[in-house]
Amino acid sequence: MKISLARALGTCFGVQDAIDAALDPSFRDNLTIVGQLVHNPQVVEELRENGVRLVDTVDAEISTPNVMITAHGAASSVKESLEARGFTVYDASCPLVLKVHNRVSALVEQGYFPVVIGQRHHVEVRGIVGDLEEYEVLGDPDEVGRLEGRSRIGIVCQTTQQVEHARGIVDAIHRRFPDIEVQFIDTICRPTKDRQEAVRELADRVDLMIVVGGYNSSNTKKLKKVCDDRGLEAHHIERPDQLEPEWFRGRSHVGITAGTSTPHAVIDSIYRRIQELADELAREASAD
Ligand code: SF4
Repeated sequence: MKISLARALGTCFGVQDAIDAALDPSFRDNLTIVGQLVHNPQVVEELRENGVRLVDTVDAEISTPNVMITAHGAASSVKESLEARGFTVYDASCPLVLKVHNRVSALVEQGYFPVVIGQRHHVEVRGIVGDLEEYEVLGDPDEVGRLEGRSRIGIVCQTTQQVEHARGIVDAIHRRFPDIEVQFIDTICRPTKDRQEAVRELADRVDLMIVVGGYNSSNTKKLKKVCDDRGLEAHHIERPDQLEPEWFRGRSHVGITAGTSTPHAVIDSIYRRIQELADELAREASAD
């Protein structure tokens, strides 16, 4: 059984930079991260082991002098309120998320009603819309009716959206409101697109895909969806001990992909475990 890795997979530069900053020894026991720095259980565990505290929202009790905004970004009002409470704020927002914030502000200045394609409750989306007076978040094409009555809309995307899904929503807007003026800015980030393109290429060559990443990782779920949409069997796992030997029986070529918050050490451990299972199956077959 052959095992292939997608040509682009795992931790992106934005997530890696934020993890490196949070693990800086000078922050030991005096840093709180607001919101999940990355949607990955192994990384969260490593941070906790290094004395980093994690809270879900800015309203939580914070007992350290330093507070970090995650790679997902936050609204300026959130940063300002933390500073007003006396904390030193370290902003680990990914530059590609900040680019979305800037694009939205520019659209609003130009008189467009801002629309974000993404998950309404995701921390990144909350950061994008957090300073806006009015906006709409669309997660599916069947939600475009919410734009009724708008004449000029400016659309951006959560950086980890699936490309086809976002385009499907834009097409649905054009169909439902042919007279509306639409300015669409594709802000899905390059690392996300690379991983989606790579999983598509690999999906054409394999008969099973293992998708590695946190169960709460938006972009990891999108990688699995790419496989599901093509009818390719795919399993989303977080750890090597979740691999079921039966998945691999009779397979000739297995692919591995991983979301932008999955550390390469985790991918390596999954690869090694699949190799062990392949060896066991080969031994079984030769003993028959
Ligand atoms: S997924 Fe994209 S936007 Fe998010 S941290 Fe990584 S590079 Fe930045």
